[in-house]
Amino acid sequence: KMFNELQDLKGNIRVFCRIRPFLPGQKEKRSTIDYIGENGELVVANPSKPGKEGHRLFKFNKVFAPTATQAEVFSDVQPLIRSVLDGYNVCIFAYGQTGSGKTYTMSGPNGEAKENWGVNYRALNDLFEISRSRSSSIMYEIGVQMVEIYNEQVRDLLSSDGSQKKYPFLIDQIHSQPNGLAVPDATIRSVESASDVIELIDMGLRNRVVGATALNERSSRSHSIVTIHVRGRDLKAGGALHGNLHLVDLAGSERVDRSEVTGDRLKEAQHINKSLSALGDVISALAQKTSHVPYRNSKLTQVLQSSLGGQAKTLMFVQLNPDASSYSESLSTLKFAERAS
Ligand code: ADP
Ligand code: MG
Repeated sequence: KMFNELQDLKGNIRVFCRIRPFLPGQKEKRSTIDYIGENGELVVANPSKPGKEGHRLFKFNKVFAPTATQAEVFSDVQPLIRSVLDGYNVCIFAYGQTGSGKTYTMSGPNGEAKENWGVNYRALNDLFEISRSRSSSIMYEIGVQMVEIYNEQVRDLLSSDGSQKKYPFLIDQIHSQPNGLAVPDATIRSVESASDVIELIDMGLRNRVVGATALNERSSRSHSIVTIHVRGRDLKAGGALHGNLHLVDLAGSERVDRSEVTGDRLKEAQHINKSLSALGDVISALAQKTSHVPYRNSKLTQVLQSSLGGQAKTLMFVQLNPDASSYSESLSTLKFAERAS
């Protein structure tokens, strides 16, 4: 049933919109969200254009209201996780301006109770649970990679010495990997439980901070990608399968005022811009089913290629900050999402 549901979607891309709640300290709570429908409708209102003209309707596979819990969100992600163990490639990513809840959706708030855990941890728990439940018929091996893309450079976050080596990124190697390894140069760690992976992700996050002034600042300007490789051997029939799962927390999509930034900050902004629009172009090409999909225009789309298009299943979380002051950023986020449908 779940498979059919997934196959019905155009090009196997599905788009969920999630609106984060107002935060406790926030004083003025003027929302741009006018209406959330049962079937994925979302109406946003332009705060400076009252009345009908200021309203716009967008359509998603699903919209999660600010009250949606992490568990509710994950229940709609779950079928995808199962399909990784069936040998599909899956990519789940969160898009939106800084502060819109990307990290909350993917990882959850830092160091909090299990019930607030995000998609990553829940997905891993499921992966291991399901693989264990199948262990009499299929032997699974699971490995993890974690990289960061910053200024179009791919960095290995799981190299044991944490030395932040800058890996040259060889495009040819991506295409020639028969085993589907997306980032051949990055360390791959074999894992046996969800907690193994959580430890590795924590290590990766620590490696990410090296040299950065503040974690938040840096994390909003780089893409972080956790890749789970699943290899299964059918113990009876003797066949093998290989699936991978990409979990991606994208850099903030906010546009930077060119008159206000220079130097490194401008360069960062340009790189982010370029890679996010390359991602948009790929998704849009897949949604339109055009024959040429422009994967090669950014490191991001190269790394994710195996889980975008073909038989792969892609899920995009479009994250919104409901605040009226974020209206124009929200609108540009929504327009990005529109290209996927
Ligand atoms: P981003 O990663 O897009 O920059 P964050 O995930 O860091 O945004 O979210 C910004 C703030 O909003 C954080 O304090 C986060 O805990 C909070 N937040 C985001 N989404 C939710 C949510 N669904 N429920 C409660 N708090 C949230
Ligand atoms: Mg974040």
